[in-house]
Amino acid sequence: MNSIQILGSAAAEAIPAIFCNCRVCQEAWKNGGKDFRMRSAYKINDRVRVDFGPDSVAQDHRFKLHSENIKHLFFTHSHEDHLDPDLLSFRSGGMSHPENVLNVYGNIGVVKKVAAAAYPLEDYKIDLHLLKYFEPVELPDEDMTFYPMKANHMLTEFPMYFIIRHGGKHIAIISDTGVPEEENWKFMREHNIRLDCVIAECTGLLLDIARGHMGGEPTIALKKRMESEGFLNPGASYVINHFSHNGKLTHREAEEHFGPYGIQVGYDGMIVEY
Ligand SMILES: [Zn+2]
Ligand SMILES: [Zn+2]
Ligand SMILES: [Zn+2]
Repeated sequence: MNSIQILGSAAAEAIPAIFCNCRVCQEAWKNGGKDFRMRSAYKINDRVRVDFGPDSVAQDHRFKLHSENIKHLFFTHSHEDHLDPDLLSFRSGGMSHPENVLNVYGNIGVVKKVAAAAYPLEDYKIDLHLLKYFEPVELPDEDMTFYPMKANHMLTEFPMYFIIRHGGKHIAIISDTGVPEEENWKFMREHNIRLDCVIAECTGLLLDIARGHMGGEPTIALKKRMESEGFLNPGASYVINHFSHNGKLTHREAEEHFGPYGIQVGYDGMIVEY
């Protein structure tokens, strides 16, 4: 059995949010544990990760990730909570001594930011790969295929979410995005994709948003549509993640709210098997 680890579960400003004292942030200070959230990122295995934001060092230490072993790093988009290009520049000889080449994959916004921070790329042992929507990337050594899907999010570039084939299973990391557009459903239908694990963003929780990000209602509707159209295998895990404190729910409150829909609430360090 394989698993994916959620390394961070917050939106851009983390929880407790820096400079904030709202009820959710106050509760987080009081409760600690799952209410403390770093910026979102994911570990598929020791060599394959998705997103690398400003909390990457803290995540490396807390979860003993040994990030020197990463070989394939995929980015959803270049927003600062998902990509900290300066951290990648620490691969230079004066800062660290990386042995393997790091393959970095992303859209044009990601490629530009990484190239600007780590130039020339050879000195940083980085190979940059430009991703295009719906053009699969094969990782034969990992028995994985990454499908870049079209996110409804950052309008200045080509934001993506990912469906990943791993062995005989499929997982989806659906973040950051509003309700996915029809092209994505068509692609899944044409490629006969049935998911065994979904981690979907729910940035807004109780807020009424469906474009750019999703609140609770669109996230629940997304799950229902996947079920009714046969895109979820029986027993598939369905987890929400990437939360804003402005969504007005603590971890326990979110569990009470989403539990009845068969939806688990993500937290830092959560391991989801598939
Ligand atoms: Zn984000
Ligand atoms: Zn707050
Ligand atoms: Zn974003």
